[in-house]
Amino acid sequence: DLLVVGSANADLVIGVDRRPGAGETVLGSDLALHPGGKGANQAVAAARLGARTALLARVGDDAHGRLLLDSQRDAGVDTAAVLVGGAPTGVALITVDPSGDNSIVVSPGANGHLTPKDIRAASALLAASRVVSAQLEIPLETVVEVVRGLRPGTRFVLNPSPPRELPEDVLAACDPLILNEHEARVVLGVDTGDTPEQWAEALLARGPRSVVVTLGADGALVADTAGSARVPSVKVDAVDTTGAGDAFTAALAWRLGLGESLAEAAAYAARVGAAAVTREGAQASFPTAEEVAAL
Ligand code: ADP
Repeated sequence: DLLVVGSANADLVIGVDRRPGAGETVLGSDLALHPGGKGANQAVAAARLGARTALLARVGDDAHGRLLLDSQRDAGVDTAAVLVGGAPTGVALITVDPSGDNSIVVSPGANGHLTPKDIRAASALLAASRVVSAQLEIPLETVVEVVRGLRPGTRFVLNPSPPRELPEDVLAACDPLILNEHEARVVLGVDTGDTPEQWAEALLARGPRSVVVTLGADGALVADTAGSARVPSVKVDAVDTTGAGDAFTAALAWRLGLGESLAEAAAYAARVGAAAVTREGAQASFPTAEEVAAL
């Protein structure tokens, strides 16, 4: 069983011809409101594939929080551990210009109130999970508490997004640490070369048992003490890459829990990521296992 510990946000999206300057107002498109946040996205992606998935997160006691809970339940996620209240639901205010570039302001809201105490209160759920997956849109001290609460035999998967340098005990727990180029550079903090093989080697030296570097249309690289290997991508017509990394991570975590090797799980995850880029949106783009098989 998979437990995702992480963020849940309402994504508020408006298309604009151009962004307003200071003191200026521009008119945009109709508002689109989508469930998002990396934790919520990963949980939906895993559940849609058929994984038994629970989400540990915090939302506000408000309409956005109910939207998040409904979308999780519709996907089949166990929401018994989603906490409600303390602050408004996290929001991402997103403007999209005609070239497709995003500008985003995030209000973490309730995500910032998911505390180490909340993690300790969910210790039974943590202990019952084969794989625990986290990201960094919640307080780092909360992720540290997740790592402390892991039972021997529970696998911990971390996508350090948004990226920052990480404490040793968190790095040492990762199996794997999953990140893209930008995240790898920030987590490393120093220039360690220009190839994914070099980043993976430098990251492994910091303590994780394994590392996966995602490379967009170029697939991924998996690495552990036994060596590294490229995972080819699947050729698709990319429409919208939003959420591809979340779908990839969720699929990888699930397949590892089924007992697959890192390379096998990453190959499956690459198919899931590829399927996710063929459709618009984040959660709306995540495939079922049947759709992955048909790819
Ligand atoms: P992130 O969104 O975190 O930067 P990536 O863009 O690397 O993550 O995407 C995650 C995974 O999804 C990739 O490793 C790859 O397997 C798959 N993927 C992403 N973009 C494409 C694409 N254009 N074509 C095929 N697969 C893709």
